Amino acid sequence: MRKIQVDALVVGGGIAGMQASLDLADQGYQVVLVEKEPSIGGKMIALSKVFPTLDCCSCITTPKMSAVAHHPNIQLLTYHEVQAISRNGSGFTAEVTKKPRYVIEADCTGCRQCEYACPITLPNPFDLDYGATKTVRVPFSTAVPQYAVLDMENCILCGKCAKACPVDCIDFTQEPETFVVETTAVVLATGFDTTSRLAKKEYGAAENHNVISAMFMERLLAPTGPYGRVIRPGDGKEPDSIAYIQCAGSRDATLGVEYCSRVCCMYAIKQAMLIAGSLPLADITIYYMDIRTFGKGYEQFYQNAKTMGIQFVKGKVASIKQDENQNPVLRVELIDEGSQVVERTHDLAVLSVGMLPHYNPEAIFKVSPGDDGFVDIPHTNSYPCLTEQAGIFVAGTSAGPMDIVDSIVMSGSAAAEAAAYIEGTRVSPSPEEKSEDVYA
Ligand SMILES: Cc1cc2nc3c(=O)[nH]c(=O)nc-3n(C[C@H](O)[C@H](O)[C@H](O)COP(=O)(O)OP(=O)(O)OC[C@H]3O[C@@H](n4cnc5c(N)ncnc54)[C@H](O)[C@@H]3O)c2cc1C
Repeated sequence: MRKIQVDALVVGGGIAGMQASLDLADQGYQVVLVEKEPSIGGKMIALSKVFPTLDCCSCITTPKMSAVAHHPNIQLLTYHEVQAISRNGSGFTAEVTKKPRYVIEADCTGCRQCEYACPITLPNPFDLDYGATKTVRVPFSTAVPQYAVLDMENCILCGKCAKACPVDCIDFTQEPETFVVETTAVVLATGFDTTSRLAKKEYGAAENHNVISAMFMERLLAPTGPYGRVIRPGDGKEPDSIAYIQCAGSRDATLGVEYCSRVCCMYAIKQAMLIAGSLPLADITIYYMDIRTFGKGYEQFYQNAKTMGIQFVKGKVASIKQDENQNPVLRVELIDEGSQVVERTHDLAVLSVGMLPHYNPEAIFKVSPGDDGFVDIPHTNSYPCLTEQAGIFVAGTSAGPMDIVDSIVMSGSAAAEAAAYIEGTRVSPSPEEKSEDVYA
């Protein structure tokens, strides 16, 4: 079996995994970055702009994606998955599988001729299944690497892509390939999932097309989004009145998500500001329990939003129905108005969904999840990047809800801890000589 030997294996190519890889590679360590999707970038590459600076998200993310792809000390393995990992002395042996793209990467130029020739149209997963894409496609315009990937489940094997390919790189015969990565340290950066799938059934998101998730609003606001502007997906109408429902999936024991997801207040305020820019006549109301603006400059960001005319209403939304015009009708308790319960009609309701662990690393990495399901950190205050396994470190939202700033800071810290661990094994390579206690 093919074998790769490196200093560090980073699992997950979102902003956290990319930053940890770059920080290790810049110090001269050899890194393999494994990403299960066909492109790196994680959730961040799908966002529109970022709080608190309102910088264009692609403008920040794509240079990092490119730096990872071109770094001489990083081997980037996209569309790969770690199947198993075992301890090997003071390091680890990981079994990694390369999923078939049905495209010969070495030859593909990302010209998209295959995509244009493909007759099968599918919902676009990059736009959360709104908008359309093809069975064979480059995943999105700024994908890294720019290789096409063919979705065999939906392919009718018509061969039009193969005929259109100018470099003859479509290969329908590819099979999964497994190989071994021997590494000294592992950084887990497997990220988060949103609580969309847990959203309260009382909010009617499954039936009402005009109740959307904040993640989809990111795509509506992005210049590369499915429609290029903010419209209601139900009927294409430009919304005059938009409601944000905070804590729609966090701080809710009935959903099993009792923690605060930390980013939702800030991203709702950010999106409200962006909508105010693109639809200046629209009324925007944010229904909240508390506004939590915890980071540097975040409170000022909130105060600025108030001066822009965005309405903040303290009230818990109990349910959302729809009227005969497909308008969401919110039943809400207005806390600051004697807790009276009223019904308010808007054109579009946006659920500020929270964060869930994306992936349980227990089965493969033997790293336990904490009570919240995210990777457990036994000594949060003293060692915020160390897991219970010596040599396995954690970065970004795989450790718990956090924003981009904190994900980047934590990744730098995980990279520093991993580097210290790698150096430690060079000084004292025998595992017997190492203390059993990671924190000793
Ligand atoms: C609607 C919304 C808006 C937001 N807006 C902002 C904002 O404006 N500013 C801000 O600071 N933060 C914002 N955030 C938060 C921000 O998205 C996160 O902080 C950031 O994306 C976390 O990055 P990450 O690398 O930890 O995780 P992710 O982006 O989830 O990346 C994890 C990567 O790991 C990969 N992966 C998972 N499991 C495996 C596996 N087993 N093997 C290989 N790869 C794997 C995934 O495919 C993914 O690419 C927002 C969040 C949401 C939901």
